[in-house]
Amino acid sequence: MSNEIRRYYEFSKYLRNRFGERVYKVSIDAGFSCPNRDGSKSKDGCIYCDNKGFSFNSRIAALPIEEQIAKGIEFGKRRFKAQKFIVYFQAYTSTYASLNVLKKKYNIIRKFKDVVGISIGTRPDCINDEILDLIESYTSDYEVWIEYGLQSIHNKTLEFINRGHFYEDFLEAVNLTRKRKNIKICVHVIIGLPNETKNDILKTAAVLGKLKLDGIKIHPIHIIKGTKLEGIYKEGRYRPLELDAYVDLTVEFLERIWQGTVIHRITADCPGKFLAAPMWILDKSKVLGKIDEKLLQMNTFQGKLYNEGVK
Ligand code: SF4
Repeated sequence: MSNEIRRYYEFSKYLRNRFGERVYKVSIDAGFSCPNRDGSKSKDGCIYCDNKGFSFNSRIAALPIEEQIAKGIEFGKRRFKAQKFIVYFQAYTSTYASLNVLKKKYNIIRKFKDVVGISIGTRPDCINDEILDLIESYTSDYEVWIEYGLQSIHNKTLEFINRGHFYEDFLEAVNLTRKRKNIKICVHVIIGLPNETKNDILKTAAVLGKLKLDGIKIHPIHIIKGTKLEGIYKEGRYRPLELDAYVDLTVEFLERIWQGTVIHRITADCPGKFLAAPMWILDKSKVLGKIDEKLLQMNTFQGKLYNEGVK
């Protein structure tokens, strides 16, 4: 389905409007850790976490940052004919280090003339004014995004999945970040988390919709082999959503998101060899196609039920 008739504000469209051409996002593993895995908060991590299930290739992730960026750029040029790039510090918690280390790692983007942006993935409890000063310093030369992992606004869910932070930490991070000019905020959510009802999921949509964030990433839950979630799944205590249920919920989720919020993604990426379930995740174009079909069939669109008054 072409971009013109999609009924939500896609990231690729936003980037084309902003830069006048295709921009490719290069995901890297900059070698950070995570307080929810190194023992500062917990040693267990989120129950679904295993960064090898993230989309980038583990052979590439082991390379120095500069080489990862160079390879990502080469790939984006070859496969997508892109000429401009955003470097995405994706793996683990990319603000979790001393300021010096952060600066050294982020500054590597300056070596690449075709890089126009930086996106930093982190947890809401790993941000402070000093780190924001540093991140803000890139806004004069680059498009700058911070991506906060939240997953759900419900603290009972955050506890169950062992996030190690609460919704209130996210709100605080958003408030701190919004004091800075030109740092865009993207939130990550997961649809289909254990014990969440349809009402819980749509409440997350309505509440986040009201925040009028710059961007949102919506993922279907996917179970990676070797994680705690796989254990729960194998014991029969949890079933991930079927594709049709995910499509229906995503459409209703989008209806509640403010129209100015850019939808960075509504699928997931996971190499098949790491995935335990659901296998429909692997057919990304089918998932996207079904969401488009459903939006059309229901004659609905992002923001249709956006409600500024929601509590
Ligand atoms: S915050 Fe991210 S890296 Fe840390 S345990 Fe959770 S999913 Fe893993």
